[in-house]
Amino acid sequence: MASNRTFTMVKPDAFGEGNCGAITKMIEEAGFRIVAAKVTKLSAERAGQFYEVHKERPFYNDLCNYMSSGAIMAMILEKDNAVADFRKLIGATNPADAEEGTIRKLYAKSIEANAIHGSDSDENAAIEGSFFFSKTEEF
Ligand code: GDP
Repeated sequence: MASNRTFTMVKPDAFGEGNCGAITKMIEEAGFRIVAAKVTKLSAERAGQFYEVHKERPFYNDLCNYMSSGAIMAMILEKDNAVADFRKLIGATNPADAEEGTIRKLYAKSIEANAIHGSDSDENAAIEGSFFFSKTEEF
């Protein structure tokens, strides 16, 4: 995946509350092109694989249970400076700290149920994108 791509998931809280369309609209209006999209549900085991980097953190089991509690929408997005610009659009991990107008400020419930994921590096964007999509599913 080129460095102008990032990976995102609309998380179970936001998807379950019917905020997927509004969030996707914000993403497109911010200039991102949707390269691939898929609604799916993670098992706790697969959520654990996705968040393996956090396995020593005290919230890891809660995070795996939460991320497997309902449907998610996974997307690969394209834009110049995609990773950094998307992190700016989603806001801080804890919605209490997120800037006004960010997706998490508008839609996150808590530091855990925080509406949306955004890759934190080009390398992780490529790894996370290929966790959900094959090259033939990208446009
Ligand atoms: P992100 O890059 O902003 O998503 O944040 P991290 O990579 O640090 O954490 C991954 C995800 O774990 C977050 O998006 C939250 O869903 C969850 N998380 C992070 N910190 C905490 C915490 O202190 N408590 C709980 N319960 N969940 C957390």
